[in-house]
Amino acid sequence: MRRSIFLGGAAVAAAWSVPALAPIAPPVARALRLPRRLDPMHGVAITFDDGPHPEGTPAVLEALAAADARATFFLVGEQVERNPALAAEIAAAGHAIESHGHRHIAQLRRLPGELREDLRRAHATIAGATGREPRYYRPPYGVFSWVGLPLARERWTPLLWSRWGRDWAARATPESIAAKVTDELSDGDVLLLHDADTYSAEGSHRRTAAALPEVLARIRARGLEPVGI
Ligand SMILES: [Zn+2]
Repeated sequence: MRRSIFLGGAAVAAAWSVPALAPIAPPVARALRLPRRLDPMHGVAITFDDGPHPEGTPAVLEALAAADARATFFLVGEQVERNPALAAEIAAAGHAIESHGHRHIAQLRRLPGELREDLRRAHATIAGATGREPRYYRPPYGVFSWVGLPLARERWTPLLWSRWGRDWAARATPESIAAKVTDELSDGDVLLLHDADTYSAEGSHRRTAAALPEVLARIRARGLEPVGI
C-alpha cells in the first residue's frame, strides 16, 4: 500500500515536470505545441525579458535605435507598474510589447487562482501603460505548469525561444553573449536576452546592451533582419 502511494506521488511529480522541460528539450516543446521559433521569412526575433528597467531598457533601446532594428519586449507587470513611462517608450519606439506575467514567480510554485489573476493583471497593466494588448505570453523562466499552459492559451499564444545568450549569468561577457545567441543562426530563430538584472546577476543588462551591436551585425551578416513578433 505504501509502495503504490509512493508510485502515485512519483507519477504526479513526473507529470508536473514535463512542461518545465520545454525550454531545454525541443521534442517536449513540440509535443506540447509550444512554439520556440517564428515561421520562416520573418527574419530573427530578438526578445528581451524581465523589463522595463531604469538603466537596462534605455541602453537596449539606444543600441536598437542606432542600428534601426526592431525587437520584442516581454514585460513584467510589476516592473511596468514601477516604470510605466519606460514601458510607453518601448512601444513608442515601435517594438513589440508582450507579457512575461505580473510577478516573476515560477508557475510551478503558484496556485491556479493566483496564476489566472497574475496573467490578467499583467495584461491590464501592460496594456494600460503602453496602449498595446499583449498577444504573446512567456512564463517566468520559460516554464509552464500543466495548469498554467491551458490558462495562458485561453487568451495568448505561448512563445519560448530557440537560442539564448545566457546573459543572466555573472560570468557572461558581451563577447560570450553575442557568440552564443547567434550560433548557427537561421531564419525564424527567436533569441532570448534580458534588458534587466532584476531577476539575474547584478549588472547583467550592461553586458547585454554592450553585446547588442555585435548581435545585430551577425544577424545581418547572415542576410537576416531583426524583426518584432
Ligand atoms: Zn524572466
